[in-house]
Amino acid sequence: MSTVNVSLTLLDIDSPTSAPPEALQVGKLLDSHGRQIKDLRLSVTDRCNFRCVYCMGPDVKYLPKMDLLTVDEYVHIVEVAMSLGIDKLRITGGEPTLFPKLDEFIQRVGKMGLRDIALTTNGSTLTREKARLWKDSGLHRVTVSLDTLKPSRKDAITRSHTTLKNVIASIDIASDVGLSPVKVNAVILRGVNDDEVADFAQFAKDHEIDMRLIEFMALDAGHTWKREDVVTANEMKHRIEKEHTLIKEGDSPSSTSMNYRFTSGGGRIGFIASVSESFCHGCDRMRIMADGTVRPCLFSDDEWCIRSLLRSGASDDKLRTFFQDAVWAKSAGHGMDRDDFKRPEKTMSTIGG
Ligand code: SAM
Ligand code: SF4
Ligand code: SF4
Repeated sequence: MSTVNVSLTLLDIDSPTSAPPEALQVGKLLDSHGRQIKDLRLSVTDRCNFRCVYCMGPDVKYLPKMDLLTVDEYVHIVEVAMSLGIDKLRITGGEPTLFPKLDEFIQRVGKMGLRDIALTTNGSTLTREKARLWKDSGLHRVTVSLDTLKPSRKDAITRSHTTLKNVIASIDIASDVGLSPVKVNAVILRGVNDDEVADFAQFAKDHEIDMRLIEFMALDAGHTWKREDVVTANEMKHRIEKEHTLIKEGDSPSSTSMNYRFTSGGGRIGFIASVSESFCHGCDRMRIMADGTVRPCLFSDDEWCIRSLLRSGASDDKLRTFFQDAVWAKSAGHGMDRDDFKRPEKTMSTIGG
């Protein structure tokens, strides 16, 4: 794809940078770095029943209730985004299963013809009935977060009391009902759970799932992130290779993970090297927060809220232009490797994972 070079004009403080007419006319979500955005990560709540140490603080200040979008507004956003080429939707949060209208939302977006609809959850509330209902409604797959296999560690990492057994049961339920491939995410923190990376590989084989080990990113509420605490993908891979032989898989250009199979047994292991080997060049993602704030790049504080436009009855053409302008302003990348890297103010739970 070619990059359109024009000078950018800031319209006003609440509006995104203006995309050039050539970019608007193509009817797609293009950024100024030549990338097309096709993957929407939509947060349907910023509320959560966990307080994971790498994400939320113990004392959270949630978004005001009246600012959260309604199910009709989320559906409308997805419709407009699809008309601009979005074909992949990840429903996230906060903990999306706490969104009271989640069943209705899945039922409605499930009929829209998206190529892929996934849900990310901490697995604390997933029942077989819900999983079946969502599968029948059009949800394709779930990703479950699980940062330890040691029951004694679970409470300390999540600062909650949901049992590990519950979360592991939710992974098996998701597989059973066909919400697959089930992916399981673990954020690896030095001195906290990095002694478990080989155990996670064994877990992937035993449960025949895609286990993904994620580098800790500077998105924690406590602002405690330090480069030295990041266990790199390379380091994790070396540790696993002491016990398992891995075979590289061919990954798609927009893939966030570097994936491997095992020479023996099922399951896969993937490394999300967001810090040590950024995958920004192939990024096709944009995020929308639960209050309608459009955030084209996870790590850039450039963001614009579409809520008032939505609530003032703006036409779909106006909403499309808003999205196109916002995406045009997407940062080239996070710059975590630079000395002048400035971490974002917001946490992953607010932005949407
Ligand atoms: N509550 C759901 C969950 O935990 O799966 C969905 C939202 S959560 C914000 C989405 C993903 O972001 C989770 O897999 C979580 O591990 C990841 N995450 C949160 N903070 C992170 C951080 N500082 N670095 C890397 N990943 C993080
Ligand atoms: Fe909640 Fe997910 Fe953040 Fe943990 S990672 S605090 S479950 S939003
Ligand atoms: Fe995409 Fe921004 Fe994340 Fe890089 S930092 S992968 S550009 S969202």
